[in-house]
Amino acid sequence: MKTFKIQNIIRGNVKAMKAYSSARDEYVSDGSKMVFLDANENPFENGVNRYPDPLQRNLKAVLAEQKKVSEDQILLGNGSDEVLDLLFRAFCEPRQDNVITLPPTYGMYTVLSNLNEVEERKVQLNQDFQPDVEAVLNAVDSNSKMIFICSPNNPTGNLMASKKIRQLLDGFDGLVVIDEAYIDFSNEKSWISELSKYPNLVVTQTLSKAYGLAGIRLGLCYASKEIITILNKIKPPYNVNELTQKRALERVSNLDAVTSEVNSILEQREVLIEALGEVSFINEIFPTEANFVLARVDNATERYNQLIANGVVIRNRTTQPLCENTLRFTVGTPEENKKLIDTLKSIP
Ligand SMILES: *Cc1c(COP(=O)(O)O)cnc(C)c1O
Repeated sequence: MKTFKIQNIIRGNVKAMKAYSSARDEYVSDGSKMVFLDANENPFENGVNRYPDPLQRNLKAVLAEQKKVSEDQILLGNGSDEVLDLLFRAFCEPRQDNVITLPPTYGMYTVLSNLNEVEERKVQLNQDFQPDVEAVLNAVDSNSKMIFICSPNNPTGNLMASKKIRQLLDGFDGLVVIDEAYIDFSNEKSWISELSKYPNLVVTQTLSKAYGLAGIRLGLCYASKEIITILNKIKPPYNVNELTQKRALERVSNLDAVTSEVNSILEQREVLIEALGEVSFINEIFPTEANFVLARVDNATERYNQLIANGVVIRNRTTQPLCENTLRFTVGTPEENKKLIDTLKSIP
């Protein structure tokens, strides 16, 4: 690390503004019997007639213990997509700043760059789908605020080499955002354990994949207390609704169930990989640390359409760099995977 200082990268307007102070921020119940006439709510109890906790303290208490961080190192959002958007809005000055992305990768980084009018500098991964550290650092200038690293990467499935990530953390004065949406399917430990070492590290995770809760929208962000304070200041006050907080708390309090589903998905992944190897028009199957498999076929668009016609929906990744004629298969239930394999083997 050269001269990373959070005060150097925060947007001026964000630094200057005052956060919205909600009724539930001003007075926090200590559990004693109080009468709440402060927020213009309907007083008749139905389980969700009150505003939710803007800081999701119950949920964060459990997460803090599990991830071995303090609660003020956690930000929760309406999916990782909101978390990523908050990062743009906190740190990137529109029409001035830029971010670095490493395609082929997750499409939301581009969408958010465009939405926030922040230049996206694309530095393609190398042939092994690893970051080209020298090229990334060459693309950086004084307006570069964030580098997005997706590990395990979507759509390629591989982990990014930790040595390369360290080189970027050490060599870049902005934030290195590691998107760990698929980390629970991999053998590697999370970068969360490195937060105390790197003040410019931000780790995002989600309950949408391994935790099986895509429908409730809960994204997680782990970073220094200073970074989290800034994100808290600009987030919509009630961005994580009460139903989501409750459902997420139930799920993270029952990790055995999550682990057992993940293990079953990992077993099925191996079954799927083996079966894909027997499909005549599949030429290459890429190693994966996620709950999907990327494979190269003879003609991705034709195969994609054939599968659709047979009622199987997968993802055609052929237009992504380095991904010509590739298809991405999510690992499903044993029945779903069998349907996929049977179809692949039966199409002419
Ligand atoms: C699926 C996915 C997410 C999850 O986004 P949510 O908004 O939390 O559902 C984040 N990053 C990557 C790379 C993904 O593939």
